[in-house]
Amino acid sequence: MAKKLAEEILKKLEASGYEAYFVGGCVRDWLLNRPVHDIDICTNAHPGDVMRLFPAHVPTGLKHGTVSVKSGGMLFEVTTYRTEGKYEDYRRPSEVSFVSELRLDLMRRDFTMNAMAMDLRGKLEDPFAGLDDLKQGWIRAVGVPAERFREDALRILRAARFAAQLQFQIEPDTLRAMEETASLLIHIAIERVREELHKIIDSPAPAVGVALLCQTAALKSWPLLDRLFSAGIPHAPRLPRLAELTQKWSLLLYGSGFGAEEARQVCQVLKLSKREKETICAFVECLTELRPHWDQPREIDWRSLLLQRGWAFCQKLDGILQACWHNSAAASDVTRSLRETYEQMQVKSIQELAISGRELSVLLDKKPGQWIQHILQHLWQQTAFHRLPNTPEALLEEARKEVVRYEH
Ligand code: ATP
Ligand code: MG
Repeated sequence: MAKKLAEEILKKLEASGYEAYFVGGCVRDWLLNRPVHDIDICTNAHPGDVMRLFPAHVPTGLKHGTVSVKSGGMLFEVTTYRTEGKYEDYRRPSEVSFVSELRLDLMRRDFTMNAMAMDLRGKLEDPFAGLDDLKQGWIRAVGVPAERFREDALRILRAARFAAQLQFQIEPDTLRAMEETASLLIHIAIERVREELHKIIDSPAPAVGVALLCQTAALKSWPLLDRLFSAGIPHAPRLPRLAELTQKWSLLLYGSGFGAEEARQVCQVLKLSKREKETICAFVECLTELRPHWDQPREIDWRSLLLQRGWAFCQKLDGILQACWHNSAAASDVTRSLRETYEQMQVKSIQELAISGRELSVLLDKKPGQWIQHILQHLWQQTAFHRLPNTPEALLEEARKEVVRYEH
């Protein structure tokens, strides 16, 4: 569907006398029969020509020659063939120049498998033998590897990431160059580093990526991350069993012997959001308390965890425990016990209490404030496992007592 819409753009460019190709990641992924998530187009038309030909456009990156063109409600990046000038900060070229030859555009790309273009009729332009590398599962830098990593050190992490996503090997000269230039990663913004690390731990073969990070010492500029990933190697194969990134980071942290405080520091180094940081620290805190031994399930006090952290959190924590205990038949007993404990709850959440915050405020004749959340939480803890009936009368009486305790 998306491909059909993108083809309309190529057709129009060709009909107007320009060259136009699909390029980069989409060509690689089509050839590998993998799902394609963004389709990029390159052309010898200049951005001004592209904008004129396609009135429905957004000038997303004119400086770099990119115009986003609308086709059937979707946006596709159309970029003019370009080369990149000198790299000044190990990341961004100081200038880009438009060129008329496709080959020159493909030359600036990172790996041979990413330096292929395909036209409307499926004809491949492959000046660096990317297809051969793709067939053999090699990741190979275009040109002289060390020079390419010196231009843009992020490519070192991209190589490790593609190896993990595609389960490819890194060609020996390229690998050596990664080791040689690893210290230059210090110049890369941590947000970009984080995105690549996310993709590695979220890939089907994170162990491959993590091993490469260690082998090349790619993370030596961040000692905490370096230690995390080195110690995390044995646990990396467990990561694909988890659904969410916060669970993955938590398992890696716990597996590497990091406690909640060190987990917090890692989240800070990676500039994760406050929400992600809190979730990860809470998982690591629970895991540190529970100390699950690998492949050796143990009983969990779900009742107190459900009261402290709630159902959604406990389900995800159980997911992490299951990933720790893979291969063990007894592990499913732990999941069953969580479900049974949850079913025993008379009141499953604060929303199910027979009295609301607003009612409490009226009945106790007190202005709304922070106290309401405290009282509701207390009432829920009391009623959840039947200590107190969930009736307005019982709740109001308990609330009166708790308000006195809260205020003193
Ligand atoms: P994915 O989209 O799956 O992350 P991709 O290869 O498509 O992988 P993008 O970041 O979408 O990666 O980039 C599209 C193309 O641009 C790449 O295939 C490559 O040709 C080129 N490219 C991207 N980043 C770099 C880089 N740092 N150095 C050189 N070329 C790059
Ligand atoms: Mg892409």
